[in-house]
Amino acid sequence: MSGRVESILSTVGGTPAVRVNRLAPEGINLYVKVESFNPMGSVKDRLALGIIEEAEQSGALKPGQTVVEATSGNTGIGLAMVCAAKGYPLVVTMADSFSVERRRLMRFLGAKVVLTPASLKGTGMYQKAVELAETHGWFLARQFENEANARMHERTTGVEIMRDFPDGELDAWVTGYGTGGTLKGVAKVLRAESPGTKIVVCEPEVASLLASGEKQERGEGGSPAASHGAFTPHPMQGWTPDFISKLTEDAVDANYIDELKTIAGPDAMQCSRDLATKEGIFVGISGGATFAGALAYSRTLPEGSTVLCMLPDTGERYLSTPLFEHVVAEMDDEEKSLSDSTPTARYED
Ligand code: PMP
Repeated sequence: MSGRVESILSTVGGTPAVRVNRLAPEGINLYVKVESFNPMGSVKDRLALGIIEEAEQSGALKPGQTVVEATSGNTGIGLAMVCAAKGYPLVVTMADSFSVERRRLMRFLGAKVVLTPASLKGTGMYQKAVELAETHGWFLARQFENEANARMHERTTGVEIMRDFPDGELDAWVTGYGTGGTLKGVAKVLRAESPGTKIVVCEPEVASLLASGEKQERGEGGSPAASHGAFTPHPMQGWTPDFISKLTEDAVDANYIDELKTIAGPDAMQCSRDLATKEGIFVGISGGATFAGALAYSRTLPEGSTVLCMLPDTGERYLSTPLFEHVVAEMDDEEKSLSDSTPTARYED
């Protein structure tokens, strides 16, 4: 995206598919779709704009009405940008286990952040958002069930992928799922326009909800009625909540998933670090996790195959998380000896 535009909202989407040069298995054309190029640094800027503009058009969202949503962060940050640019107040509910910089970012953009106890997991923050909407007459964005989420990916992400990989060039597309909006929207386009493309879906090893085959209990409007039995906490923020969302289940029911991969937390972290140090591509933990799945799947493919992997957000959002655990503020021994190797401005601590 470059040039003169009328609003920051015009810069949502249109992210590049970047070739992976040093980490790709030999003979594989591996590309990554770098969603940190969105204005607030994540794939969720697309959903935020899609949900708000569809609700404006349908009349579900009135001028000046407050928007409320349960979000682990990126959706809240995207919504905060969209609401700021369009003049809607925003309230987000968020479990207190998610990274502190996410809350601060949303507040910086003018949103109110209502914390919920981590022990109540994703369902707790969701129920709080529903209650707030009902009590105060606010517009609930419902990212996990709202078709506008998947439709935005169909119109933007899916179209961009077909433009960049036309004529059945793409052998596989690899993604994780949170709301399942990316999965459902892009998969619909791929099935229609590139039926030979295999759709590979990744989930955490310790929360392999889809692989378990266990059904999700649902309440009103497709919202989750209980935590899924296969869920345990995992480090891939934004991936697999403690329930299978309606949009994700739709993708399963439509047979959009050709292959499921489970990813271990340490592999996700390592891939995120490798992308940074060996490719100069700076992404978060879910990006590392999706890349781990893309590498594993690529190794099963014949030479000359082309694979595209989603990288949902920037690594900058994870400075206070285990992703940065190995990075210390002080100089290590190698840095100290570099300092000592010349006489000027040597550092004594
Ligand atoms: N990774 C991160 C960091 C996210 O914030 C999200 C969105 N929750 C995803 C992956 C998954 O995207 P989707 O909601 O479209 O399934």
